[in-house]
Amino acid sequence: MMEKSFVMLKPDAVKRRLAGRIIARFEDRGLKIVAFKMLQIPEDLAMEHYQEHREKPFFRDLVDYITSAPVIAMVIEGKDCISLIRKMVGATNPAEADLGTIRGDFALETGRNIIHASDSPESAEREIKLFFDESEICSYEMPDREMIYEE
Ligand code: UDP
Repeated sequence: MMEKSFVMLKPDAVKRRLAGRIIARFEDRGLKIVAFKMLQIPEDLAMEHYQEHREKPFFRDLVDYITSAPVIAMVIEGKDCISLIRKMVGATNPAEADLGTIRGDFALETGRNIIHASDSPESAEREIKLFFDESEICSYEMPDREMIYEE
């Protein structure tokens, strides 16, 4: 099934100039970027985005981290892409992430794990709405679509 996932390059990815290499992994895989923006997340949006963690001991540090510098927020589309992108991103703790995953190749610690990706269709829908207006989500055909999908 065609899905849309919310993917965000966190401040450490931007400041470490890793954005192009990370985005290239999604493009190389055949996934389609349908929305894209750089922004510095205001505190209230950070708290809303991570609301499920608000009682956790790391919540304050997480909000400080995610608001510390600009992020790159994206909507990425592809067949069953929500779970696929989670696999490409790797485990929350980069020290435990498989080599070949984004976190496994570029990061070392949980509190500096460089990228966010939606973990379910429900969270994807919620997160996309939080960061993008409907009008900011683009629709276009990939000319090599038949080379990527069987049908
Ligand atoms: N996090 C943290 N300490 C922890 C667990 C999580 O700083 O012990 C941060 C980390 O940046 C993580 C984010 O909180 O990416 C959200 O946690 P979640 O468990 O949802 O992991 P994710 O879905 O990002 O892999």
